[in-house]
Amino acid sequence: MDFSLTDEERAIRDTARQFITREVMPLEQEALLRERRHQPGLELSELRELQQKAKKFGFWGLSTPEEFGGMNLPAVLQSLIWTEVGRTFVQFKFGGEADNILYYANDEQKQEYLVPTIEGDRISCFAITEPGAGSDAANIKLSARQDGDDWVLNGEKTFITNGNDADFVIVVAVTDKEKGVRGGGTTAFLVDRDMGWRSEFIQTMGEGGPASLIFEDVRVPARNILGEIGQGFELGMKWIGKGRYLIPSNALGIAERALGMAIEYAGTRETFGRKIGENQAIQWMIADSEVEIEAARWLILRAAWTVDQGEDPRHASSMAKLYGASMVNNVVDRVMQIHGGMGYTRELPIERWYRQVRLMRIYEGTDEMQRLIISRDLLRGYTKIGGHLA
Ligand SMILES: Cc1cc2nc3c(=O)[nH]c(=O)nc-3n(C[C@H](O)[C@H](O)[C@H](O)COP(=O)(O)OP(=O)(O)OC[C@H]3O[C@@H](n4cnc5c(N)ncnc54)[C@H](O)[C@@H]3O)c2cc1C
Repeated sequence: MDFSLTDEERAIRDTARQFITREVMPLEQEALLRERRHQPGLELSELRELQQKAKKFGFWGLSTPEEFGGMNLPAVLQSLIWTEVGRTFVQFKFGGEADNILYYANDEQKQEYLVPTIEGDRISCFAITEPGAGSDAANIKLSARQDGDDWVLNGEKTFITNGNDADFVIVVAVTDKEKGVRGGGTTAFLVDRDMGWRSEFIQTMGEGGPASLIFEDVRVPARNILGEIGQGFELGMKWIGKGRYLIPSNALGIAERALGMAIEYAGTRETFGRKIGENQAIQWMIADSEVEIEAARWLILRAAWTVDQGEDPRHASSMAKLYGASMVNNVVDRVMQIHGGMGYTRELPIERWYRQVRLMRIYEGTDEMQRLIISRDLLRGYTKIGGHLA
């Protein structure tokens, strides 16, 4: 059994680390100051500039096929890079990416939506959640009614990431109530903002914020159907599936950086005449964090590896998402505890992480939904205890 990285994986991972350390981390203090003034930590133009710089380092379109100018990296490498990105709290991501389901677009749609999204000229968002349907996504109600060559959309989506900035949305709508959501009764549409939907900002405990999207008789031409009629829910699940190993990959980077800060602090902060790191109470928090980080790493890499094997990654990804999200919450909580009062201040990024990582247990499938998937797979005999080694 070989747990090491190949030379190529290590080289690419190290280059990503260098880029994040040299180009992104120096912006952290300014980003924190701006966020405290309720401004974006990084302006869109600054993000684009950094992404272009990263492109010169070779990082462009981690998951994008080569025919669209991307790197088309294996999932393991994407995971390693997302971990590096997680080390900084500046809201940076490498450029040249588009939603995975935009590749279901036809040639004309690809030119209008996919290519400009990859290039950074258009901003997309993806909307399935509604006020009455989150975990129970099969209960969505936003409707699309055919009217001549158009479809007329009515309803509301909520908690949509990028919903305030996007100029188009990939929205899953009910097109055939009789068939039901799981029976082919939903369809995904590409809907430009100027076709008439509007967004309303939602305040959250995190930085930035998602939006509600309101559709009132929004008329969408039939040529804007993404994929096939009836394929909406399936595409939605594919969109969500991708994040299930990348979210915890990002969490791993946050946890490693935060634990590094705690170790440094434990080695310098003195109480009662000695370093706090000399107390067993602190040592145990460090040890528990390290163990959880390692356990998460291998769940995540196994999930990514499963993707690369062309096997169904859902079970492994759910385990990685469930454990990774919980791990990072535990680690950041302990790191705050180790920093005492300083950990609670806004002079350090710990309270920011504390707010940020809480979301990881909620979005793209809550902890409870991951547990549901994992247990259901076992109970139905779809997966064996022990996974691929069983
Ligand atoms: C910041 C943010 C960004 C988001 N971005 C997007 C986006 O871009 N696009 C998008 O479509 N959605 C997005 N979401 C929505 C997100 O995916 C949902 O919030 C999430 O799926 C949970 O749905 P809900 O909020 O309706 O909670 P609910 O489904 O109402 O659940 C409430 C609680 O009940 C639990 N629960 C529900 N059913 C069961 C059950 N059967 N057994 C046990 N427990 C259960 C849940 O786990 C949860 O703890 C985002 C959410 C947030 C907060």
